[in-house]
Amino acid sequence: MTTLDKYTSLRVGGPAKKIVNVSTEAEIIEAIEAAGDSPVLILGGGSNVLVSDSGFAGTVIHIANDQAESEVDACSGATLTIGAGENWDDFVRATISRGFAGLETLSGIPGTVGAAPIQNIGAYGHEVAEFITRVRTYDRQSKAIKTFTNSECEFEYRNSIFKRIPGRYVVLSVQFQIRRGETSTPITYAELAKKLGIAVGDKAPVVDVRTAVMELRAAKGMLLNPDDKDSWSAGSFFTNPIVTSEVAAALPADAPKWPLEDGRVKTSAAWLIEHSGIDKGHEHGGARVSSKHVLALTNSGSATAEELLQLAREVRLRVEAKFGITLEPEVNLVGLAL
Ligand SMILES: Cc1cc2nc3c(=O)[nH]c(=O)nc-3n(C[C@H](O)[C@H](O)[C@H](O)COP(=O)(O)OP(=O)(O)OC[C@H]3O[C@@H](n4cnc5c(N)ncnc54)[C@H](O)[C@@H]3O)c2cc1C
Repeated sequence: MTTLDKYTSLRVGGPAKKIVNVSTEAEIIEAIEAAGDSPVLILGGGSNVLVSDSGFAGTVIHIANDQAESEVDACSGATLTIGAGENWDDFVRATISRGFAGLETLSGIPGTVGAAPIQNIGAYGHEVAEFITRVRTYDRQSKAIKTFTNSECEFEYRNSIFKRIPGRYVVLSVQFQIRRGETSTPITYAELAKKLGIAVGDKAPVVDVRTAVMELRAAKGMLLNPDDKDSWSAGSFFTNPIVTSEVAAALPADAPKWPLEDGRVKTSAAWLIEHSGIDKGHEHGGARVSSKHVLALTNSGSATAEELLQLAREVRLRVEAKFGITLEPEVNLVGLAL
């Protein structure tokens, strides 16, 4: 029986009752309908899931395409429609080599195009929601195609309608609007601006931004690399907490505080973890806090899902005890609860 550790970047997860590999829209819908009333888990790259050691007692529908199925409608900009199983970073790289700009700060994020809207992937100051115009889905409840406009996706920081109603909408393809150009979007992230040698708010050549982002990510173990066990993770395990202004004011002066339009304040989960006494490399069995980036929980080679879960609980409890803030998982837990 196939186990799900082979399908996840954390390399843990027990057996699935059935795994169906699909790539086209027709195959995805056929597999969902064939599963009938049995539980279904949709998997793309498996880079944002922690699957239990007992696995999944239902049908896993694994979506992956080998080739881009993009429709291009280009003049000064382009509307690109990309199938769900396309590798995200292959898509980003292809847009840049074809002379389009916009997605460069999102270079190097693992996973598929279909998963990108689920948690509204983001990095280095930009989110995918800025570039999505439509998301075509299969609604498992009404058993019909439903296409969402950008505003209907209800995108928020690491969230969307698709994540809020898990399992209902299966993303079939995503439509992006990007512009032609060789100059990046304004660089709003200080670390990236510094790496590029420019001021925050300035722009840089798109190819230089991609190179800088890939280098920054590699240095943090945030690029999937079989030879770098710090990247045997699901990326950031927790989201950055959004707290009231009163809670933010009670944090130490040097804690990062990013004010939001609604009056609340976003702070840094990594800062809270580091200042709660959890060090890089901290271990629980085979589960280990990355030696490069405290927000990534990794598999040092022999971890079980249970050990990763216990490490996550320990991190969460330490932060709660020190700062009174409860970290929320960014990773999707399958058959587990924190
Ligand atoms: C090293 C590393 C670095 C990372 N860095 C970042 C980062 O910088 N920013 C960021 O936002 N994320 C980051 N992540 C997390 C991850 O890459 C993203 O969340 C990515 O979008 C997950 O894609 P996936 O195809 O692997 O999704 P999976 O892990 O396969 O699935 C994730 C969730 O989406 C659902 N899903 C997947 N495909 C579909 C579909 N077609 N329709 C409906 N539901 C679907 C799954 O059921 C699951 O709930 C990182 C992960 C790793 C391992």
